[in-house]
Amino acid sequence: MEIRLENLTKIFKDNKRENETRAVDNLDITIPSGKLVGLLGPSGCGKSTTLYMISGLLEPTSGKIFFGEEDVTEISPEKRGIGLVFQNYALYPHMTVFKNIAFPLENLKVQGRPNGVIEPTKDANGNYSIEATGTIIIEDKTHYLKANYPLSKDELLKLNEEVKDASNEQVSIRIEGKKFKVKKEFLASDFESQKDWLVQLITTSLFILPKLDKEGQPIKNKSSQIVTCKRKMTEEEIALFKNDLENGKVEVCIESMVASTTRKLSEEEIQQLETELQENKEKATKERIILYTKRKLKKQEIHDLVIETAKLVQIEKLLDRKPSQLSGGQQQRVAIARALVKKPRVLLLDEPLSNLDARLRLQTREEIRRLQKETGVTTIFVTHDQEEAMSISDEIVVMKEGIEQQRDRPQEVYNNPSNLFVAKFLGTPPINVFLGRIENRALYIGKNKLFMAPKDVEDQDVYVGIRPEGFTIGETGGVLRAEVEQIETLGRDISIICKKDECTQPTFKAIINADSHVKIGKIVLGVKKNKVLVFNRDTEERVF
Ligand code: ATP
Repeated sequence: MEIRLENLTKIFKDNKRENETRAVDNLDITIPSGKLVGLLGPSGCGKSTTLYMISGLLEPTSGKIFFGEEDVTEISPEKRGIGLVFQNYALYPHMTVFKNIAFPLENLKVQGRPNGVIEPTKDANGNYSIEATGTIIIEDKTHYLKANYPLSKDELLKLNEEVKDASNEQVSIRIEGKKFKVKKEFLASDFESQKDWLVQLITTSLFILPKLDKEGQPIKNKSSQIVTCKRKMTEEEIALFKNDLENGKVEVCIESMVASTTRKLSEEEIQQLETELQENKEKATKERIILYTKRKLKKQEIHDLVIETAKLVQIEKLLDRKPSQLSGGQQQRVAIARALVKKPRVLLLDEPLSNLDARLRLQTREEIRRLQKETGVTTIFVTHDQEEAMSISDEIVVMKEGIEQQRDRPQEVYNNPSNLFVAKFLGTPPINVFLGRIENRALYIGKNKLFMAPKDVEDQDVYVGIRPEGFTIGETGGVLRAEVEQIETLGRDISIICKKDECTQPTFKAIINADSHVKIGKIVLGVKKNKVLVFNRDTEERVF
């Protein structure tokens, strides 16, 4: 399942101080299907905010999120088909591992048997249309009322026209649960003139009123709490509603519009359809939309899924334990199993390794990579640890202050960073940065001429970045004069700490072969051209 973010923006407003934080700014990225993509950046750059918007836990200020072709921007988290794993495993302490993993399955509704079809008609030009019949569900967010409004003939005709015209942006046809869901604004956009109609609708049709607290006041804090009773409004409630509506206090939205011509099937037809679906699902669904019943999972099905997932994350021997009887790494595996058991379309991991010690981090990171490859689930992995992101990801997205800096394969981002920020963020030890200039096409650090810049590069002040592994010694062609201050032996390599006036840090580090003979004091270093990265001094963008 490909994930596409289109101009995704999140602005947090602080009402008291009238401040705003642009946590995510115009993010425009595509995460290829079946890949593991690392979202990488320093603390506060908007990684978690991006992840929470993808999960549906946070609403974007603007922009859109697509899973495949489906626009999920306004779909609730439960319906998006995501598995989420957080830094703190958030397991239920009183439940066994088995129960923790089984928990998301208990109320899961899965597709049951086919029980109806929608068959669009095809005109001579090959365009499909449906004879719409349907209802609009209207939600009044102020009073927490919902009303189902059956569409009139004229409205149906209008809707049918729009359904035909797929390019009309007001209409999105979602073929999920095998219904046509047509989001429309024709009533909401003309809200003023619809007031009378709205009062009539909400007060006379089927509606749902909120749960009342002990004082008899409606509990209004969460829309999920509203659906407790269906009854007609009292006179007082109607008066209050009318009054609020007149004073512009009522916030009404059209939640969805369902339009379909559904034909119920006989048992014989159902059986025939089941056979067709088994034989060739693509053919069976090509020119019709099949409606299914919903059902809960059977006990045995839950059991099998839990065992299958536990095996996948290798915790099948721990199923009877409680979370407190597990190590951190084992707890995180349980959390991952719990996220995977529902077979999500997308797996979202928010710093999942932060609470583990160094050894377990490495081990669990390899585990996540294996799981991701085995399940093929599109995965987004948030981390501020560049090494972690580099080692695990097919691609990484580097972010800074809510803005994407670069997206590519890890090695490519390391070798060819697009700007100084990315170059500095990737690599341990970090890249060494020097003040330099290009003069008559030659690249200089102070008085030391390194090499000629490519032909079309203009003279300018630059930052010269040299990766620690980009130095040579003892060969002819030394170009960079420096002062060795300290030598650290690392085994296969040695690390030499040097000083140079033009370095933007007090010292810089070169990593070279341990066989090299280096002494404290003056040295002339050579540089490997492909490890030297040059950035404009003002824009910090890459020059070459
Ligand atoms: P970390 O690695 O520290 O978790 P991050 O890259 O995940 O950081 P976010 O948590 O996405 O960063 O935060 C991005 C910015 O948005 C930060 O400046 C943060 O202070 C701000 N922010 C996040 N949540 C809120 C909120 N609910 N209200 C106001 N500002 C917020």
